Amino acid sequence: MTAVRTASEIHVDLFERAVRVTPGGVHSPVRAFRAVGAQPIALVEAQGARVRDAEGREYVDWIGAWGPLILGHAHPEVVEAVERAARRGLIFGLASPAEVELAERIATRVPGCEMVRLVVTGTEAAMSALRLARAATGRPGVIKFAGCYHGHADSFLIRAGSGAATFQVPDSPGVTAGAIGDTYVARLNDLDSVDTCFASTPERVAAVIVEPVAGNMGCVPPEPGFLVGLRERCNRHGAVLIFDEVITGFRLGSGGAAAHFGVTPDLIAMGKVLGGGMPLAAFGGRRDLMKQICPQGLVYQAGTFAAHPVSVAAALATLDVIDRNPAFYETLEATSATIESGFKTLSAQMPQPPLRVQRVGSMWTPFFTSQPVRSWDDHVTVSTEQYAAFFRAMLSRGVLLPPSQFECSFVSIMHGEDEIRMTLDAAEAALKRMSA
Ligand code: PLP
Repeated sequence: MTAVRTASEIHVDLFERAVRVTPGGVHSPVRAFRAVGAQPIALVEAQGARVRDAEGREYVDWIGAWGPLILGHAHPEVVEAVERAARRGLIFGLASPAEVELAERIATRVPGCEMVRLVVTGTEAAMSALRLARAATGRPGVIKFAGCYHGHADSFLIRAGSGAATFQVPDSPGVTAGAIGDTYVARLNDLDSVDTCFASTPERVAAVIVEPVAGNMGCVPPEPGFLVGLRERCNRHGAVLIFDEVITGFRLGSGGAAAHFGVTPDLIAMGKVLGGGMPLAAFGGRRDLMKQICPQGLVYQAGTFAAHPVSVAAALATLDVIDRNPAFYETLEATSATIESGFKTLSAQMPQPPLRVQRVGSMWTPFFTSQPVRSWDDHVTVSTEQYAAFFRAMLSRGVLLPPSQFECSFVSIMHGEDEIRMTLDAAEAALKRMSA
């Protein structure tokens, strides 16, 4: 007779098998839960704002697949659109009417996005936007911000955290000094550091790329004047301003961060919400720039799976659901504000450990610090140990937060009163235990 396995043995066994055949046992690093010192879990089912793991436990989910799931998991309309599209043919490898409609709908709603090309991942979108900026300006340099992530293309993999003076230090082995030799790292919310980068490389900067709300160092909002300041500097220096809206696009509102903050970039990278849970991303922007993309122009960019018909169907269904509800973003904002104020009340009641929630729209992060986090440099004040303890305590109470202090939590339209109550109750118990 087979011995009955205890629930926790299922995950242990699974990951023992996984590490034998996959580096770290996972197909993307943060899934390994290393930053929070926990046994990684594997999910088998997800619906709305809830997920279920391989051991049968259910959680309120705030990871939201790292951003795409603004409609929650497995929204029936999106699933149905996916099924219908798959039955018509999984992939054509040529143009389709649906992709034209999607490009039109993106161009209509995203400021400055006169033309768009559909790709598969956010990495491709940001990488292609940068190549285009370099081609259009004939310059090699790019200014990025410490702590901002733009996918894993070599040019963007520069060590974060040391401010404007940090040049040419690759984040990853295998990235050559040559690949990042033209990447300059500035400090978010610090226009002086941007000026320093421009001054040190006159006539060499092709582009400034920024997450208009940083989501990859936890949620860090742009301070008033910062994005406008970038726009002004790019105009002055003839550089291309790229908004990486892979997270913020279609999340901060139907026109993304560009519409939300009233600043129009030259190029925009989009992904995540756009695909409604399927692999789809895009880059787009000024017509005179986008016209330089092959085959209209010479800047090469291509993909077997680009504008995948099943992903395009999911995207159109997602936009339909959003557009049908005139109060969609207001509802999302109200839910997000409730979770923020709930955490603020808890931290006021329990000043230890210090906890500070930062939020923009449906992106939020509980930071274990009493100081505002304005840039990567401020993370020295943040306790990742306390976050790890909090994460584990929440997980044991059925609430799944991102397994890293430096990731955003995401609110979906399916998060309701029950999920908020369960999360705040769990947080209260976790914080009480941590403060004892
Ligand atoms: N840009 C931002 C702002 C992101 O958050 C991410 C992924 O998290 C990317 C680009 C890369 O997107 P992908 O993982 O789809 O390649």
